[in-house]
Amino acid sequence: MPQARPPAPAASETGDPLLLTPGPLTTSKSVKAVMLHDWGSRDAAFIRINREMRERITEAAGGAGTHTTVPMQGSGTFAVESMIGTFVPRKGKLLVLVNGAYGKRAAKICEYAGRACVVEETPEDTPPDLGRLDAALKADPAITHVFVVHCETTSGILNPVAEVAAIVKRHGRRLLVDSMSAFGALPIDAREVTFDALASSSNKCIEGIPGFGFVVCDQAALDAAKGNAHALSLDLHDQWKALETTGQYRFTPPIHAIVALHKAIEEWVAEGGVAGRGRRYRDNCRALIDGMRALGFETLLPDRLQAPIIVTFHMPRDAKFHFQTFYDRLKDRGYVIYPGKLTVADSFRIGCIGRLYPKDMQGAVEAVKAVVAELGVTQCGARRAA
Ligand SMILES: *Cc1c(COP(=O)(O)O)cnc(C)c1O
Repeated sequence: MPQARPPAPAASETGDPLLLTPGPLTTSKSVKAVMLHDWGSRDAAFIRINREMRERITEAAGGAGTHTTVPMQGSGTFAVESMIGTFVPRKGKLLVLVNGAYGKRAAKICEYAGRACVVEETPEDTPPDLGRLDAALKADPAITHVFVVHCETTSGILNPVAEVAAIVKRHGRRLLVDSMSAFGALPIDAREVTFDALASSSNKCIEGIPGFGFVVCDQAALDAAKGNAHALSLDLHDQWKALETTGQYRFTPPIHAIVALHKAIEEWVAEGGVAGRGRRYRDNCRALIDGMRALGFETLLPDRLQAPIIVTFHMPRDAKFHFQTFYDRLKDRGYVIYPGKLTVADSFRIGCIGRLYPKDMQGAVEAVKAVVAELGVTQCGARRAA
């Protein structure tokens, strides 16, 4: 009897596997297509594109007239490192709210930069403790700045940035936000949430390609930060000054990535901005969680703490479940997932962001169902300590 032919693998508009990861992400064909050119960095068209890109991001953050957006070459971490090094003075002190790897990374950046730092930590499945933040700011007048991660991509938890901002403001301190994996899909508006700076990158919810990050800066705070930076290439004030006075980057700009983000912003606006993008990601997340729960998988987080960005699932308790095989077979079917990054539990992650739609999430769940059956796995519920 002839063998049933395996289904054709799922694919993006360009025939590549779908990336259900926290980045790099699946992008639209049109975003990739705008890069099929070469531009000189002094090209008038590029200078206009770069200016518009910066303006659109500032507007998206609710910062028109009060804030400015400064792009920074490199991955998102370069933007975070430039934000901390530029805004926290050498004699300043940063309180970092940690509930995952990205908060921990901010504390490590302080170590490298020689900035004093204190950590307020909660477990990876628990939001920051606002009472402890309030008490820490009351007890330690040396703390000048607070750092919070908007969506901690380690678990996918949504942190209460607005509540944190209100406490920080009440104590007369300054806030730095890592909104890397949230900006563009989850609301944050500078007119309602006071921050000195907010970092994100070209390759998360705005769906551009990797290559640079950007920092939305309160203009007065940026002006006051002149001379703080300890690293030339990561000096946001110097980068801003060059862009404003010459329209030029100080060092080779990632031109193709900038042009791609400019196009991606156009598509983001057409989708309805934060509301439209956020709705699609929420629909993706719902389709994914409902489908996986129907197969018996368990999420790390309760729905009320879950951001619609990336979902952490407990490793199934079935001894026949082998993650690498599971991963490889999903990849063969056109779906790339992501290992876990938790310290509290054995887990894997599936992302909801990028050029993905609920039908893609349903397709991924179907693929998971098929692979689990191939592996002979029947118990998809969480592996728990005996
Ligand atoms: C992706 C991400 C970063 C930056 O990571 P890079 O690998 O340097 O791009 C920082 N913070 C959060 C919360 C992220 O999700």
